[in-house]
Amino acid sequence: MYSQTDKTNKTPIAQERRVLTAIPGPKSQEALLRRAAATSAGLGLTFPVVIESSHGAILKDLDGNSLIDFGSGIGVVNVGNTNDRVVQRVIEQVQNITHTCFTVAPYMGYIEVCELLNELTPGKFKKKSLLVNSGAEAVENAVKIARHFTKRPAIVVFEHAYHGRTNLTMSLTAKNMPYKDGFGPFAGEVFRMPMPYPFRSQTNPATLAQDSFEEISHRIEKEIGVNNVAAILIEPIQGEGGFIVPPKGFLPALSEFATKHGIIFIADEVQSGFCRTGDWFAVNDEGVVPDMITTAKGIAGGLPLAAVTGRADIMDSVHVSGLGGTFGGNPVSCAAALGAIEVMKEEKLADRAKHIGKIMGDALHAMKEKYPVIGDVRGRGAMQAIELVMPGTKEPNTQAMLDVIKYCTSKGVLVLTAGTYVNVIRFLPPLVMSDELLHDALGVLDEAFASLK
Ligand SMILES: *Cc1c(COP(=O)(O)O)cnc(C)c1O
Repeated sequence: MYSQTDKTNKTPIAQERRVLTAIPGPKSQEALLRRAAATSAGLGLTFPVVIESSHGAILKDLDGNSLIDFGSGIGVVNVGNTNDRVVQRVIEQVQNITHTCFTVAPYMGYIEVCELLNELTPGKFKKKSLLVNSGAEAVENAVKIARHFTKRPAIVVFEHAYHGRTNLTMSLTAKNMPYKDGFGPFAGEVFRMPMPYPFRSQTNPATLAQDSFEEISHRIEKEIGVNNVAAILIEPIQGEGGFIVPPKGFLPALSEFATKHGIIFIADEVQSGFCRTGDWFAVNDEGVVPDMITTAKGIAGGLPLAAVTGRADIMDSVHVSGLGGTFGGNPVSCAAALGAIEVMKEEKLADRAKHIGKIMGDALHAMKEKYPVIGDVRGRGAMQAIELVMPGTKEPNTQAMLDVIKYCTSKGVLVLTAGTYVNVIRFLPPLVMSDELLHDALGVLDEAFASLK
């Protein structure tokens, strides 16, 4: 069996936080100067160190600091950084086939990943899949296929949505800064609907799902016309928008409406998929069965891979060679996905996500009681977030978010931000994070709030 020591010839990375220098340390500082000189200024930076190695839930930087990974590279390394099984599969695969292009000369890995996706995604009907390189490319292809199948142009999307950074997916994404500003003109036939946002809604929580659905269905009928709508595209739990969880009943109503009018219901599970929320996919929570589902991030344990999975009649409606791409479903990425999915099954990572969600949820709710700057705690499983406000109001508190992030960074805990109002801290731990590390990281977060003036 492959072991981490074989790979690096170094001692394995202990699963503990150890901060030896200021963050960033001297070596990271020097490397960050080279980063600034060599890479586009358009690239953001969340955690100001340069990483040298990683394993499980720990990232090690150039200065030897061991940092807790509370972000999983944005919900990607659900099975842990450099997961042994994934690394082993990648090494074996890269020696056999690195690339042929699946549409030129196929290989088994692509077929096997599609078989698994067809089996694991919700829905008893016959399904087919397409593999591509990124979440944005998956969403683009889902829209392309839905339009081709329905022969209709319009796509319905939502406030706070994030679907990617290509021209079409920027158009589908809601937020201007930083994703869209100055990057237009955008694609046409994209219609944005209000998203029920329980924390910020003025509506009675008991009727929010129904009220939102009624408004949206009315607007689709009156402003677009149901016969013009190819697809309704929605993240079952919004990611970059700030882990907004729609009220119970909303997604089933929307999906039923789509079915009734021949509209393709596409669930964008790029961030919420692959055990993250305590199930294979977030839609499973309410038994919603999308016509198509887009996946990426967590699918391949850190290698670039994405997929569109859908009803066979929809996926097969495209003429031969209408779909494809040079690198889509690269053999090494497919091998990584097969390893990652095996680990998710064997180590029951969906259950592990629930367990993490319980610990995080309890700790975050306890912090909300102590610190009035925390306005809301929300999420599902190992996809949790807190929204920060000016105490006693719902006014967004970006400064508190920045101060908390700064504190966590200085103590060696990497956390991510989110939210349309730039006031959400989100947590996406690798699902293999130990309880000890989780409690340690949550302890640092508590100290961060205690340190706010
Ligand atoms: C990250 C993300 C995307 C885009 O994926 P990329 O791989 O970055 O192109 C699309 N949809 C959702 C919900 C995402 O979280």
